[in-house]
Amino acid sequence: MDEPPQNIRAVTQDGCLEITWAEGHVGLYPFPMLRGECPCASCVDEYTGKRKLDRSTIPNDIVITNLELVGRYALKIDWSDGHNAGLYTWEHLRQLCPCSQCK
Ligand SMILES: [Zn+2]
Repeated sequence: MDEPPQNIRAVTQDGCLEITWAEGHVGLYPFPMLRGECPCASCVDEYTGKRKLDRSTIPNDIVITNLELVGRYALKIDWSDGHNAGLYTWEHLRQLCPCSQCK
């Protein structure tokens, strides 16, 4: 499951990222949740896989300031807290889908 999504859209007024997957499933990812899942080396320990980022420090009103596709496999997200080091792969994002169907 690493086909690129059909559509990706940051819905700032709802505070979530909307991803329409290749097979038509639409995932809604609340910004603070997604920020908390940042896979970069300063948020997750590369060796232990342990999360170093304290999720309680993430502002509830955090928003996405820029989205950028990285090749065909991932999405780079710029956050309003200035963080932009994380690459979210399609596989990772698909696993994170918080809807009742996917959980
Ligand atoms: Zn990070």
